[in-house]
Amino acid sequence: MSASSPSYPPVASLVGVFGGTFNPVHYGHLRSALELVEKLKLEQLSLLPSALPPHRDAPNCSAERRAEMVHLAVSGESRLVCDAREMQRPGKSYTIDSLIELRGELGAQQSLCMVLGCDAVQDIAMWHRWQELLDWAHIVIITRPGWQLPRTGQVAQWLKTHQLESSALLRQRPFGGIIVEELRPLAISSTEIRDLLASGRSARYLLPQPVLDYIQTHKLYC
Ligand code: ATP
Repeated sequence: MSASSPSYPPVASLVGVFGGTFNPVHYGHLRSALELVEKLKLEQLSLLPSALPPHRDAPNCSAERRAEMVHLAVSGESRLVCDAREMQRPGKSYTIDSLIELRGELGAQQSLCMVLGCDAVQDIAMWHRWQELLDWAHIVIITRPGWQLPRTGQVAQWLKTHQLESSALLRQRPFGGIIVEELRPLAISSTEIRDLLASGRSARYLLPQPVLDYIQTHKLYC
């Protein structure tokens, strides 16, 4: 670099974590994850399978198998990884606990985004210590066909209070802001895949073939 080259401030890096039951993981999750990595220029996005989701019936497929399917789905795409930390924690899998652990590992200055689908935002006020989530990470809400953000009530007010004007602001502080990202709409759900498989129909092309092969090998969802 010549002595006269302009010097730019270092661009802060951004990493993300995308929690879910992933029962099983499908292209709605995966394509959204990849589009988000590219749109926000995330260094990495970790898919975080919930071992014991606090607000729904225990999944009919073990946490280890769901994590293995996520692992298979992201292999070969280095920007997406499977974070199986919730398998190691006993009891209910509270997102706040994972964010606190991640913050401890990343340090105070690293920008961290937690990714949530619009449907998950609907009941966020039932989450354990939900109002503290923004003390540890930003929240990136991704659109999902058939779901809208709440327009009234305490969650709508919370969104309004913390929403950032631009995604560039995610790099200016490590946590505390909310953005909404509109991604390619893919009307795929794990529920539909489980229903297809349980009724003997094909779920091909809704999820990666290695995941489908794994489901067949282990006779899941039949
Ligand atoms: P289920 O049908 O069992 O409720 P799901 O398809 O909603 O499962 P989850 O594992 O519960 O999948 O979702 C994890 C996260 O991914 C949630 O934040 C959810 O909003 C988001 N998500 C799931 N499917 C899509 C999709 N097709 N498009 C965008 N976001 C999605």
